[in-house]
Amino acid sequence: MKTIRLREGKERSLLRRHPWVFEGSIAKGGGDAGETVRVEAHDGQFLAWAAFSPHSQIRVRAWSFDEAERIDEAFFARRLQRAVALRARLGIVSDAMRLVHGEADGLPGLVVDRYGDTLSVQFLSTGSERWRELIVRQLLAATGLSRLYERSDTSVRKLEGLDQRTGWLAGEGATELAITEHGLSLGLDVALGHKTGYYLDQRDNRQRFAALVRQLGCQRVLNCYSYTGGFSVAALAGGARQVTSVDSSGPALEQARRNLQRNGFDPGPHGFADADVNQYLRQALAEGTSFDAIVLDPPKFAASAAHAERAARAYKDINRLALKLLSPGGLLLTFSCSGGISADLFHKIVAGAGHDAGVDAAIVQRLEAAPDHPTTINFPEGEYLKGLALIRS
Ligand code: SAH
Repeated sequence: MKTIRLREGKERSLLRRHPWVFEGSIAKGGGDAGETVRVEAHDGQFLAWAAFSPHSQIRVRAWSFDEAERIDEAFFARRLQRAVALRARLGIVSDAMRLVHGEADGLPGLVVDRYGDTLSVQFLSTGSERWRELIVRQLLAATGLSRLYERSDTSVRKLEGLDQRTGWLAGEGATELAITEHGLSLGLDVALGHKTGYYLDQRDNRQRFAALVRQLGCQRVLNCYSYTGGFSVAALAGGARQVTSVDSSGPALEQARRNLQRNGFDPGPHGFADADVNQYLRQALAEGTSFDAIVLDPPKFAASAAHAERAARAYKDINRLALKLLSPGGLLLTFSCSGGISADLFHKIVAGAGHDAGVDAAIVQRLEAAPDHPTTINFPEGEYLKGLALIRS
């Protein structure tokens, strides 16, 4: 067993069960890509069993802080069963959910989403990559499913020195399927969709949006960064009369159109704009349009805290425009999925946007990712999605 010795004082984060060790904290030792290593403090005290990643700044990701635990197939079986069992207890009103949320489930670098009878999986680190075959086997055993599609085509794999890879690892057949989320039917494609196919983290916020649209009687709705129209379908289910979905992806908008149809809504009267949201908002403002409800769910503007400042300006800009476009009494649901932007900072950015827009608004709810995307107390980096529901005065 290879050993990694940390520099003096660098053991603190592992002692607090934070699973990462950065390159600069290591005094000596190494291993092959994904190899299990023993991590110890400068004085030789055991800290963790971990996966070694020779190319990444995150050089070590801990599997276990228990010296007696062995990292083998039974270990992965236990962790996967625990993750699946947690979701079963959460009472999620959908046949689609995140079953494994990486570090938060004690499985760094592994993301597993379930869409009906199909699992869609990302191996994001050398550690999860190294154990890929038996993880697949144990996932099928833990879920009783037989279809598993790999979506390891994300850029973070480059940081780990890993190539992109996609395809069936178990089962075969159509990659286009449908899920039912809070009673609404949504089509998606695990091969062609973003990430693993869909944005499951917004499930409960889409339902909340439907309820608020109904409660407030919102008629004209603008769904910005709509992807496949999850919030659009929710708005229609909430009684909205006219919904415009804006996204820069043509295929996503096509799916959005089909998703309206799946739920019995004629897409005819609704808008599907293949456009840059910022430009769309500026144009709408120039034309004097207004909306009773707007959703802003942009992609990650800040990859890390280092990009927070530029990202903050971008968030402020779209929020200022959206607040101006709201009719009095209108509803804004605004989100950031940037890990580098804290909930506090996001709140300040949106407040600044309101100030610049000359608009007063009441924050009526703070929003976060659905509970199948948990955060653990030892890993604050896992907290990425934050949102606000505002009502314009
Ligand atoms: N709200 C969606 C998820 C949004 S993900 C849901 O509930 O499923 C972010 C989306 O923003 C992606 O679909 C991406 O295609 C789109 N996007 C990224 N940059 C954009 C831009 N500048 N203008 C419009 N859409 C953009």
